[in-house]
Amino acid sequence: MTSEQAAPVPKGTGDRSDPDVVVVGGGVAGLFCAYHLRRAGASVTVLERGALGGPQSCSYGNTGFVGTHGAAPLAEPGMRSLRSLGMLSADAPFYVKPSADRELLRWLRLFGRACTPAAAAAGFRTLIGMKKRSLEILLELCESPSIAATFESPGIVLAYKTAHGFADASRAVSRTVANGVPLRVLGPGELEELEPKTRFDIRGALYNPDGAYLQVPEFVVEFGQVLREMGVEIREHTDLTGFEVTAGAIERLHTNRGDFHPGEVVVAAGAWSTECARMAGVGLTLQPIKGYSVTMDMPPGGPSRPVLLSEGRMAMVPLGDRLRIGGRLELIGMSTAISERRVRGMLRTVGEYLPDLAETRTRETWSGLRPCTPDGVPLIGRTGLRNLVVAVGYGHIGMGLAPAGGELISHILAGQDPTTDPTPLQPDRFDSIIS
Ligand SMILES: Cc1cc2nc3c(=O)[nH]c(=O)nc-3n(C[C@H](O)[C@H](O)[C@H](O)COP(=O)(O)OP(=O)(O)OC[C@H]3O[C@@H](n4cnc5c(N)ncnc54)[C@H](O)[C@@H]3O)c2cc1C
Repeated sequence: MTSEQAAPVPKGTGDRSDPDVVVVGGGVAGLFCAYHLRRAGASVTVLERGALGGPQSCSYGNTGFVGTHGAAPLAEPGMRSLRSLGMLSADAPFYVKPSADRELLRWLRLFGRACTPAAAAAGFRTLIGMKKRSLEILLELCESPSIAATFESPGIVLAYKTAHGFADASRAVSRTVANGVPLRVLGPGELEELEPKTRFDIRGALYNPDGAYLQVPEFVVEFGQVLREMGVEIREHTDLTGFEVTAGAIERLHTNRGDFHPGEVVVAAGAWSTECARMAGVGLTLQPIKGYSVTMDMPPGGPSRPVLLSEGRMAMVPLGDRLRIGGRLELIGMSTAISERRVRGMLRTVGEYLPDLAETRTRETWSGLRPCTPDGVPLIGRTGLRNLVVAVGYGHIGMGLAPAGGELISHILAGQDPTTDPTPLQPDRFDSIIS
């Protein structure tokens, strides 16, 4: 791809160890920063500690929903008391492990403050705007044939197991539609028309025809290839180990494979961004929320489009001859250990909604760490250091937010008017609230 504008940050010399910009993290957040920066004319190097598209990254085994679905922050009105919601029980869909960790306790206090109708509505407005812009970017990117095969847009079914869950969701439809999401209640027989092979044991369903998803990790791998062809250098198995900071700016960046002297540094290292930014003396208000996915052979009664098992907080997506189910929210620190008990619980939930989904061969069980802010809105922008920006905190919807987030980073570095309003995304917005 040719550059149409001047390089946004002409400080690096542009050679291999002095690129204009080093992006730390080769997940979806980092790759979209690299994409927009390169399009704006910058020389860009991406550092990834593992292999691109590898299971260490949260962008590897998720359900890949993009588009207008799911823009609500995790912090919902009524979620203030962890105990009353049963979140301290290990089997709850959203589990918080009791801990005396000060950072976690502060995060939880800020999460509680975000659980008001006003804060949730403000978060939704920011996230839906970013999701819509992201979809436009994805549609343009996916015109490239190699990557087009990893993008599907068959709509999404939201299934409700309980009468009150369906009633609550149906009441909220008009508000959601007013916010630009084309959600509707499915009438009698419509679900059978949409999914004739699949038997549901549910009380009702909604449908969002805008529902789209990316097949991962294939999307990440193909996107990496597109970026290489654009001239982005991607250094796999390269681990950021430290920064040299002089006079309020990063002078040098150390890795296990040599040093870099870039003009600007973007930290986009997902749940590890906290430790990366801390190496430069910058604090981030971020916690990892672990999730699981199980990828199995596609059963005969499997759905042909994504289905959300709403009360169970789980999702399923068809991936050709495979079916992936994803879910669980566990605030338990940086561990990615897989609990067989949780996996069994997820499969049980699937059986409650789709009783014919006989268990077929499980191909892979995976867990990943969602990088989460207390209010569910990412941290994107400049930090206290002159040449350090962050693109982090995409939480449970990073696949659907990162395209717009990466664009915002390139606008910030180029000093251009941004398409996405950066104000609600300020990385330091929690600093003055509570310690
Ligand atoms: C079960 C599950 C289901 C999900 N479903 C969806 C969904 O349907 N739709 C959606 O939009 N989102 C979904 N998500 C969320 C989504 O996966 C994340 O928001 C997104 O992947 C975060 O991307 P990221 O690039 O910020 O982080 P990551 O993908 O984790 O990337 C960060 C990268 O930085 C690298 N790194 C870390 N430290 C260093 C270092 N020191 N040096 C170099 N590299 C480093 C890591 O190896 C990693 O590859 C889901 C998540 C889970 C767990």
